[in-house]
Amino acid sequence: MKNKLIASYVVLILFMILFMGVYSIVSTQNIYHRDYRESMEKQALLVSSLLPEDQEYQTFANEYSSQLGLRITVVDRQGTVLADSSYEEPLENHLKRPEIQKALSGQVGVDTRYSKTAHLYYLYVAVPVQNRELALRLAKPAVDIEQTVGQIIAVALFGILLCAVFAIVMSVVFSRRIIRPLDQLNDAVNEVAQGNYGKKIYLNGTGQVATLAQSFNVMNQILEFNVNQLEEQNVKLSSMLNSMTEGVVAVDTKFRLILTNPAAHEMFGLPEPKGLIGKNIYGLMRNEEFYLLLEEVAESGRSRSRELEWQVPGGSRMLRLNAAPFFRQGGEPYGVLFVVEDVTQIRRLEQMRTDFVSNVSHELKTPLTSIIGFVDTLKAGAMEDADTARHFLDIISIESGRLYRLLQDILTLSSIESADQDVNVSPVALGEIARQVDQLLRPKAGDKQLAFEIRVEDNLPPFACNRDRISQMLINIIENAVKYTEHGSVITTIEKRGDNLKICVSDTGIGIPADQLDRVFERFYRVDKGRSRSMGGTGLGLSIVKHIVLLYQGSVSVSSEVGKGSEFTIFLPYRRASKRPLTEDH
Ligand code: ADP
Repeated sequence: MKNKLIASYVVLILFMILFMGVYSIVSTQNIYHRDYRESMEKQALLVSSLLPEDQEYQTFANEYSSQLGLRITVVDRQGTVLADSSYEEPLENHLKRPEIQKALSGQVGVDTRYSKTAHLYYLYVAVPVQNRELALRLAKPAVDIEQTVGQIIAVALFGILLCAVFAIVMSVVFSRRIIRPLDQLNDAVNEVAQGNYGKKIYLNGTGQVATLAQSFNVMNQILEFNVNQLEEQNVKLSSMLNSMTEGVVAVDTKFRLILTNPAAHEMFGLPEPKGLIGKNIYGLMRNEEFYLLLEEVAESGRSRSRELEWQVPGGSRMLRLNAAPFFRQGGEPYGVLFVVEDVTQIRRLEQMRTDFVSNVSHELKTPLTSIIGFVDTLKAGAMEDADTARHFLDIISIESGRLYRLLQDILTLSSIESADQDVNVSPVALGEIARQVDQLLRPKAGDKQLAFEIRVEDNLPPFACNRDRISQMLINIIENAVKYTEHGSVITTIEKRGDNLKICVSDTGIGIPADQLDRVFERFYRVDKGRSRSMGGTGLGLSIVKHIVLLYQGSVSVSSEVGKGSEFTIFLPYRRASKRPLTEDH
């Protein structure tokens, strides 16, 4: 900007000076030529008046020529050169010379031409003498005149050059003075463009630039206020969107993405948010039902809700989509807004509850049917036969016992599930509990002649827990090991590993098929239903174990090989968070 202004000033000045220079040089040249010619005319008239009549023209010419510094020629009416100050020898006839002709006709003759005699350009001025009998001519080499003109031009050029330098220097100085505030303005505008709205310009004076600077400052203030407000609204909006558990996706009428939040990215399994805005939704979300919903809402202009299954890497999830159209201020459609809830967990829990109810009903139905059947049979006459009656009563007692255990397990499970923390927690010496469990289960192991051992590490620090729960956990898991082992051993070790209590129960029993290892902790899941029932199992033992472990924020795992045995490992942390984290239930 600055350089351009200076350059245009300089070009203008140079052009003006050039024009002025050429004009003044040409004018000076013309004036000088005219004046010189006129002075030559006057000199010619003066010299002619002094021309003697005694024919001593040559002497006269020589004398005045040296005084005036001019060539003097005297020519008679016939053109004969009577005298010439530059040439003593006779010269050719001069009658045809235009200035001579004019002088002989009584006028002043002037001509500039090349002299073949002197081989120079001459300015000739001739005047009539002695009643036009003679012509007196003065001549001056044009070179002499041009030399003087050249000197004048040189002086003029020097002056012009000085003026040009001065004008350029002044133009640079003035340009700077004009441009400095513009530069300041330019810097401030650049800062605003980079988002620094606080920049202010302080200019003295009342000129147009100063007024512009004031307007700029006012505009900047308004801009800063508006931008701050917009930013604040943006921050509010984005923090709300970011903290929402519901996913939010908005598309415009051409189905290009205009807004998403992290929850939506997570739910739809979308790639990085960067660069997604503006992309067509069809390329991002591949789900037929989603498009149908989008098109339906866009076409009808009404809200719709739908639940659909969404495929994501590593599985699928159930999403509830609430889609609503939204409009510009004038009521023109702007796009469609989706608010998405992940209902996978809710649906899974609902399904689990339904399964649980049907499982419980089924589990209750079998012993109850059996009890009702045997009671009816007894009433119908079987009571008469004492042996049969006793046998039936034994069965009724077994089934009642199973019913009782089943209800007991269901109650235990529900009380553990609904608790955030366990009650009656106190430091418990695991050795003591181990002894009680040993007393309870050793006879059962003894019946099968199994090697039975519960090893507790010496000086094991007491573990803060509800002793009944831990003891139930140990009974369930060790009793299973005894139940599903016919030969060999059931060994339990209890020790401290790092910050955890580690309980390991290994047996040499029937084992669990690899594909069912994950499922044995589910409610009512049994590998072999008949065998479990015949052993009085409810199918809830390991589920209770798992829930007690989760209550203490621990983990349980199993490794097994069919026909060789199983090993259950439990880790329970000594240090726990005040509340147990939410976990997926089975
Ligand atoms: P159950 O009352 O049937 O024993 P559990 O929940 O305690 O129910 O166990 C679930 C299933 O896991 C059992 O039915 C059994 O098939 C299998 N299981 C549990 N512990 C063992 C074990 N130590 N060895 C082999 N199978 C086992």
